[in-house]
This record gives sequence, structure tokens and C-alpha cells, in this order.
Amino acid sequence: MLFSELGLHPETLRALAEAGYESPTPIQEKAIPHVLEGRDVLGIAQTGTGKTASFTLPMINALAAGRAKARMPRSLILEPTRELAAQVEQSFAVYGKYHKLNTVLLIGGESMSDQTKKLDRGVDVLIATPGRLLDQIERGNILPTDIRFLIIDECDRMLDMGFIPDIEKIVSKLRPNRQTLMFSATLPPEIRRLSDQFLNNPIEISVSPPASAATTVTQALVRVSHAEKRAALRFLIKSEDVKNALIFCNRKRDVAIVHKSLVAHGFDAGALHGDMAQSARTETLAKFKANELRLMVCSDVAARGLDIKGLSHVFNFDVPTHSEDYVHRIGRTGRAGMSGRAFMLTTGDDAKFLAGIEKLIGTKIPEVALDGFAVGAADSENLDRAPSSSPRRRPERKPRDSGAERPTAAEAETADTPPRRERAARPARARPEHSRPEHSQPERPRAESAPRMATEPRRRRREYEDQDEPETVVGFGNRIPAFLQVAPRPRRA
Ligand code: AMP
Repeated sequence: MLFSELGLHPETLRALAEAGYESPTPIQEKAIPHVLEGRDVLGIAQTGTGKTASFTLPMINALAAGRAKARMPRSLILEPTRELAAQVEQSFAVYGKYHKLNTVLLIGGESMSDQTKKLDRGVDVLIATPGRLLDQIERGNILPTDIRFLIIDECDRMLDMGFIPDIEKIVSKLRPNRQTLMFSATLPPEIRRLSDQFLNNPIEISVSPPASAATTVTQALVRVSHAEKRAALRFLIKSEDVKNALIFCNRKRDVAIVHKSLVAHGFDAGALHGDMAQSARTETLAKFKANELRLMVCSDVAARGLDIKGLSHVFNFDVPTHSEDYVHRIGRTGRAGMSGRAFMLTTGDDAKFLAGIEKLIGTKIPEVALDGFAVGAADSENLDRAPSSSPRRRPERKPRDSGAERPTAAEAETADTPPRRERAARPARARPEHSRPEHSQPERPRAESAPRMATEPRRRRREYEDQDEPETVVGFGNRIPAFLQVAPRPRRA
């Protein structure tokens, strides 16, 4: 099928041709005609399938006629993260190049007053994260009553992040006779409930089985001890032909630690997590996308939807505690039919989460063992280009006996000796698990079967938005100064 057969605006077709798009992807082919007809759509599609264009292209048609009014957006796209919102804005810049549509990005971490000024100039397309949008609506800076086009993207991620109550609030302020599209990689019952609530007689489109791992990604599991995780990561980066890679950690503080450690070892790495200033997040991502940075250590804030051209590798420094996150993390590579490689480090503590992931993807992740790394009964038969594997033995650290170019762990260690300061801080390899420093302690596994409490969405949102409790001490903290501990003198009568 050709784009020209879909009924898109001629100027949009021109922009698409200039962007080098030859034919629509399956989600575009299936969704665009229905969106142009004015139907509501529930799209079950992973990122990387071209779903952004499946809603932006027909939206351009619909918005081409008509004028933007100050503070009264004509359409609204809700995205779970700032990076995704920014990416959608870029799509409008590419596809809507020959249309004069005003897009406004409303995301946290940026000046409210700058955003308000932009809203005053008139808004055709408002692209927002739910929290900041609600703030602006509640301050009266946006009148949402004119929104005729609503897109809720990455619904399952919105659910994970605890955004659903905010979204329900936002939708309750919109006119009922609007066109609504919802996109989600998976369809848990809660999303089904929302689609019943928000959509009117929708067309349901599914382009890949929910939560399937891309077949273009070669996966591998590496069993290591806690103390060896960073060394194993360095070994993998050196032994694989890494063009560019995302390195996922479960917690922000580990993002910072792994990033610092890689930089100290001379790797070209940046960091991205939700506690960083928005300007730093944007700058790091832009550098990474422009290939000015080879490695980006990140939290799950980067797991969904980020479109990084030709990403060669994903390293899971930690096993994600939510199985779907694994699918999203590794889905950053192997996009657009290209091949990618995804490695995951695992320790004994992750067994339950690993089992959950393997159940979700319906297959066992092939194991590889790294020469010189202690833990790991491994089978490497499925990996064509794996690092040196030593099945079912506990290898000594020793150089590879083959003439391979890849360094062994031992070589990686010596070549890689960190600066004195870090060396001193690094836990000794033989140190028993219980004496590990605090920062390398594994996150306590979450009891999956524990009943969800009312605070669950908020808690999950905090986790996903990377808002660990701040480590600031309020007042005197736990330490009561001595002068306050002196017993008060008895009062004179
Ligand atoms: P998405 O799933 O929307 O994040 O899109 C993934 C990637 O596919 C983006 O880099 C798009 O620019 C690209 N893309 C989307 N549609 C097409 C198409 N029809 N032909 C080629 N590339 C596309």
C-alpha cells in the first residue's frame, strides 16, 4: 500500500516523501482510514511500530482547516514522559512541515510562564504530560472545552505511573463529542475499563501480540554476583561491538553510581533519570541521539517509546521488577527491522522477577557466562556472537585461550583499573554479600501477591517517575541535640 492511497493531505504526502517514508507501517495502514472517518480507535501497538504517525498524520488533515485560539487547544495528546512528549512534538515538525500548526509542549520541569505565553499565541496541538496539564487547567491557563481530538498514548505506562486518576480528571473536563484515540502496548483489564469509559464505539486495532519481545533482538542473560555487576558490564561493553547502548538500572541512585563508574573507567557515558533537571535530561538525550555519547545509563524513564536510530545494544544492569519493563527496555534496540542485542545481568536475588519476565515473553532467555566471572551455570548455544562462554563451570579469572580480540574479564580489569579514589571505595571481590556497601544492596523484591492499597498508584508513580524519597533531613533529623535533652528545671511556685 502507498501513503497516497490513505487519503492524507497532499502537503503531508510531500513531507513524508521528504522524510524518506515509502509505505505505511501496518498500524498506519489500519488506523489512518478509521481516524480520517472520525472513528474512535483503540490501538494495541508497541512503540517502534510507527504508531505516532498513525495519529499525527490524520490529525494534520483534521486540523489543516480552522484557526487556533489563545488558550483553547483544538487537540490534545497525553504522553507519560517528557521525552515522549518532546518526541511527538518533533513528529509534528516533520510531518506537518507544510502546515502552519501551532504545537505547544506542556511538560514538567519547564517554566510555567513561558508555557503560558505560548498558550496565548493559540494552540492547534497541545502535547502534555498529565500532571503539568492539570496544573495549567486548574490555574485557568487552559480552557479545554474546545478539544475535539484527544490522544492518550502509552496507556499501560500511564497506568504503571499512577496517572490514571489525573487522566480521568482531565477527560471529565473535555467535551463529550470529541474523537478519542487510545494506544497501549498491552491491554490489562484496567485499560479495557478506561477504553469503555473514554471511547465511543471504537475500532480496535492490534498490530503485534501484547508484550511480545521483538524478534530482531538477540537476548542474553548473564549471571553474576552483586559485587561483580559493574565489572561484568564493562566487560560486556568491551567485548561486544557496541555502537551505542542504553544501560538500564532500576533505581536513580544506581543510575548515578553506574554512570560515575563508567566515566571513571574512561567510557563515553551520560545519565538520564527523572530527578535530573529537565534541561540536563534534554541535553543528554540530544547528545545521545546525535551519537555524541556512546552510552546512556538510564532509569525506566527512557524505556518506553524513545526512538534512537540504530541502537545496537541494551544492557539491563538490573532485572526490572515489572516484567513489561523488560520488553520495553529491550525494544529500544532491534527497531525498524534492524538487529539489536540485549544483555541482562542477574544475581540470585532476581529469580522471581526473572521468572516473571520469561513467563511474559514465553521463552527462556539464553544464558551466557563471562570468562572469569564467578556465578553462572550457563548455556550459550543460542548466541551467535556471545562473549566467551564457559558452560557449567566456575571459571578462574584467566585470559581467553582463543585468539579472540575481545578482552577477558581479567584483561578488562587490569586495563580498566579505576582511579585510586574509586578503587578504595570498591568492594573487594571476595567480600561476603552481607558486607556490601549500602548502594549495591539489591532493591527489596516487591511482593507481587500483596494486596494493592489505596496508595498504590501514588507509590508506583513515584517509583516510575524516579522520585525516590529525598535524602534531605528535616529539622534535627533523628538526632536530638544534647541541649534539648536536659530535663527542664522545676518551676518555682
Ligand atoms: P513510533 O512507533 O511512532 O515511535 O515510530 C518508530 C520509528 O519509525 C520512528 O523513527 C519513525 O520515524 C519511523 N517511522 C514511522 N512510520 C514510518 C514509515 N511509514 N516508514 C518508515 N519509517 C517510519
